[in-house]
Amino acid sequence: MARRRSRRKNKAPAWVAALLAVGMAFAYGYQWLVQSGQIEDVLGIYPEPVSIAEELGDAIAQVHIIDSGQADCALVLTREKTLLIDTGLSENADKTAAYLRDAGVTRLDYVISTHPHADHIGGMQTVLEQFPVDTILTAPIQSGGESDNSAYRRMVETALETGTALETVSAGEAFPLAQGVTLTILGPEEELEDINENSVVSRLDCGEVSFLFCGDIGREAEELLAESGADLDADVLAVPHHGSAGSSTREFLAEVTPQIATISVGLGNDYGHPTPEALERLHEAGADIFRTDINGTILLATDGQQLSIQTEKGGAAA
Ligand SMILES: [Zn+2]
Repeated sequence: MARRRSRRKNKAPAWVAALLAVGMAFAYGYQWLVQSGQIEDVLGIYPEPVSIAEELGDAIAQVHIIDSGQADCALVLTREKTLLIDTGLSENADKTAAYLRDAGVTRLDYVISTHPHADHIGGMQTVLEQFPVDTILTAPIQSGGESDNSAYRRMVETALETGTALETVSAGEAFPLAQGVTLTILGPEEELEDINENSVVSRLDCGEVSFLFCGDIGREAEELLAESGADLDADVLAVPHHGSAGSSTREFLAEVTPQIATISVGLGNDYGHPTPEALERLHEAGADIFRTDINGTILLATDGQQLSIQTEKGGAAA
């Protein structure tokens, strides 16, 4: 008996090994699909995302400066409301949407369109189609001319199709996002002709810690903001206009006094962003500079007192 049993044992490995091989192939294949993000495309299902509460941990708010190439996209998570400031380019929109899902986002309360340029609202259609969005906040848009471009028209059409409200904001309006977390609109101070200068500027206060988001404003809007008497002092500055030479003026930075400056910028972009002039002024202002082209996505979290920063790769620029 013992011999026969051992003979049977000897036969078993052929099919057991085959089964194991098939199983391992599936396991490795599945792991590869998950790691490469393709599981979502192949199976139409998504790995179980963390909840926003889990994602936040002890923080009252997180700000994700999402690497979206030569474009702007920032996600604000709180215990109650979610906010996206710009959506990046349309060609990166699926990646952005996957990032949001991984961060636990299932819907968005607000999406700010700082201004109707493709590097800021190109991904809007995809975001609106993939997530329920309550309200899009925009600056007053002049009809006709450069501001009435295809990215803008597509945003308005998709908002109508998806039942998303479009709301024009003005300086001084405040949007409570959660206990101790408020977004305040600082600009545009007045309707300016240049689309970039007419960007929505907002300030996020999380307890004692504050962030300033500037869209693509330049000298003209920076001056108006400084003259308006608005509180511009912020711990984190999302640097205006990808670090262009005509923005981040000394006068503006003297009001903001940022500890940390984040620059949303694509590696080797055609605009020469960020410019040496803007970088020098940010250094002079004493800010630690983080850039999406070097650091990838930048994650800032605060409990209302302390601020922590994590990057996908590397530390502050020297
Ligand atoms: Zn831009």
